[in-house]
Amino acid sequence: MIVLGIECTAHTFGCGIVDSDGHVLANVNSEYVPITGGIHPREAARHHSSIAPKVLAEAFKKSDISMDDVDGIAVSLGPGLGPCLRTGATVARALAAYYDKPLIPVNHCVAHIEIAKMICKSLDPLVVYISGGNTIVAAFSSGRYRIFGETLDIALGNCLDVFAREAGLSHPGGPHIERLALKGNRYIQLPYVVKGQDVSFSGLLTAAIRRLKEGYRLEDLCFSLQETAFSMICEVAERALSHTMKHELLLTGGVAANKRLRSMLSKVAELHEATFKPVPLQYARDNGAMIAWTGILGLQFGLILNVEKSYVRPRWRLDSVDIPWFREGFP
Ligand code: AMP
Ligand code: MG
Repeated sequence: MIVLGIECTAHTFGCGIVDSDGHVLANVNSEYVPITGGIHPREAARHHSSIAPKVLAEAFKKSDISMDDVDGIAVSLGPGLGPCLRTGATVARALAAYYDKPLIPVNHCVAHIEIAKMICKSLDPLVVYISGGNTIVAAFSSGRYRIFGETLDIALGNCLDVFAREAGLSHPGGPHIERLALKGNRYIQLPYVVKGQDVSFSGLLTAAIRRLKEGYRLEDLCFSLQETAFSMICEVAERALSHTMKHELLLTGGVAANKRLRSMLSKVAELHEATFKPVPLQYARDNGAMIAWTGILGLQFGLILNVEKSYVRPRWRLDSVDIPWFREGFP
């Protein structure tokens, strides 16, 4: 079985082609990078529609297969930015209708988890999923990925990006902050906000920006911002790990690239005798392969949708999705 997956929830338009043995035949992604400021949804959607034919053609060229070999078209219908989702859905619907292929709806958060599980050979992990738009600690229980902690306001990646923007650094800000934090040597007190199992980053962001304007050294602020935010994640992840007693800690999402975060979470895992499994970078960020792989899992359980009913779902929550394939494991 072969599925073409289309990712289009935010900054990236991607096409992945994956088979049911977990071979990634193609994973071609094009990221919209704003010249100034953050991601403008309409500008990102314009980028997606203009680049779509090229990305699609390149994916087929790389995979060395044709549309005849494809058993289904998977698309990320949410959560994400409306204009971006609609652009991806339009491409997927057109392909499914024209080539008479089943259309498979995929939840973007589920896809981040499934690709990481498949690539890292993880069966039943505690998941820490941190990206530009999501911050979620989750684990499988009773048919779904249940949320054991999430952000009450902005995502951690977004917090880093906005702080970086205020400091005059280019988008995305996460990698700049990681680099500058290595030169920081003084911890500046910032609000550490954990409420029950949830985290909040908006007060932390406001305080860090205020300190920046007060003239505190940028390197020290990057260091302090990382230490504070990552410690909050570690606290919640550690409690979830202890409560769920999972034996694996899986890290996914764009912020998974951060070495300091990896090192802190690997210690949390070690303390609880869990194996730490950070997803490799090409699968940490948004990509088409993760949608294709989750499409394979869905198609095997007949989870397809009529084109007329394939509405986008900008606020589609992870814990509202049934996961019938969970016990199947990785190929
Ligand atoms: P995603 O939304 O999953 O594609 O992830 C994008 C987010 O990851 C952005 O907010 C980036 O700033 C963040 N990011 C990427 N690399 C790093 C890094 N090395 N450290 C921290 N954040 C990062
Ligand atoms: Mg993402």
